[in-house]
Amino acid sequence: MRTFTRSQELLKRARAVVPGGMPAHQNPAMLVRDQSPCFIERAQGCRFWDVDGNEYIDYMCAYGPMILGYKHPAVEEAARGQAALGDCFNLPGPIWVDLAERMVDLIAAADWVTFGKNGSDACNHAVRVARAFTHRGKILMAAAAYHGIGSWCTPNPAGITGEERVQVLTFPYNDADFLQALLDEHRGEVAAVVVTPFRHEFGHDQEMPTPAFIEALKAGCSLEGPLLVVDDVRAGFRLHMRGSAEYIGLKPHLSCFSKAMANGYPISACVGVKELKDAAASVFFTGSFFSGGVALAAALATLNEMERTKALDKTFHAGQMLKDGIQAQAKAMGLGICYSGPVTIPFMTFKDDPDFAKAKTFCAAAYQEGVFFHPYHNWFVSAAHTDADIEETLTVTEKAFRKVKEST
Ligand code: PMP
Repeated sequence: MRTFTRSQELLKRARAVVPGGMPAHQNPAMLVRDQSPCFIERAQGCRFWDVDGNEYIDYMCAYGPMILGYKHPAVEEAARGQAALGDCFNLPGPIWVDLAERMVDLIAAADWVTFGKNGSDACNHAVRVARAFTHRGKILMAAAAYHGIGSWCTPNPAGITGEERVQVLTFPYNDADFLQALLDEHRGEVAAVVVTPFRHEFGHDQEMPTPAFIEALKAGCSLEGPLLVVDDVRAGFRLHMRGSAEYIGLKPHLSCFSKAMANGYPISACVGVKELKDAAASVFFTGSFFSGGVALAAALATLNEMERTKALDKTFHAGQMLKDGIQAQAKAMGLGICYSGPVTIPFMTFKDDPDFAKAKTFCAAAYQEGVFFHPYHNWFVSAAHTDADIEETLTVTEKAFRKVKEST
């Protein structure tokens, strides 16, 4: 039996000095209580080792940032090269312009780019740019969608006043009629409709956008307002190198990227069309570390390496192999599952599992055998997952499904 003794000790120490023990999604309360690792010591390729020395094949990829494999040589070399020159300066370095040009060349709907550190920075900025450009206040977003920790969208109401949310209206993802009605009701008042390229909210089967929903977004959004903002923080570079909007057939006015952009280094980007460039310049957007060169160099190396090695094709291949294997196993064992979303960002739920008990049994069994999945959050596949890794994973999922079968 694997044990998590050191993880538990660290958790106890953390709880004494950090509110809640650990922030939000990294809080082990989100995993399987006392049966999952809480702290990681090191990682390499598609694997990590927890502080108790247990090895795992990783299907969370640091919640998305890892796309080429942990400690990828080309990315690490670029980061080291910049670190040797220095990271945080009074003024940006040339790498800042190099990456800005690269992003504008690469992303379909990008005539300009601004860099931040977190996905939240990019999403908050996009909303402000939309408001500055349209001179309108209201924002429409899908109910339960996650766009970061900004007051306008954070899912947890603690510390937020009602006034901060008056301007934010929600619609059910994929409900074209509801969206249309909301737009009609608030004609002339809405600055932006913010959407993720597919429905990937916590604890819910994922849904690709329907053709009717895409049409409603296209028909409802324009430069006259509301603007269309695609939050590609989670999905960016896991569906299409030119942005997920390209993959689903949308042309956003503003898009937000982060996560997979720099293979784990902290950076985010808000990009937009040329008509919004002056509005973007008018919005105050800065941070002490926003122009830090190491993350910029890592991002440039990540994007270049992804294109050079066709990393996205490899990620799709690995994701498809995982999906096919898991679905075949569940079927053979007579277990009802829903395997949803793009194969590069999949999620699995069990049928008739309202409290996620089966999902937790499955994940706990997988942790024991050396594979890391999440019971409620969508998973991430990377280009570093080889056929051999997937085959090894499938021997583990077979055992984990058996545990679920035994427990029901
Ligand atoms: N938007 C989406 C779709 C996300 O998935 C996330 C992060 N999970 C964010 C925004 C916020 O990004 P960050 O945690 O880097 O602030």
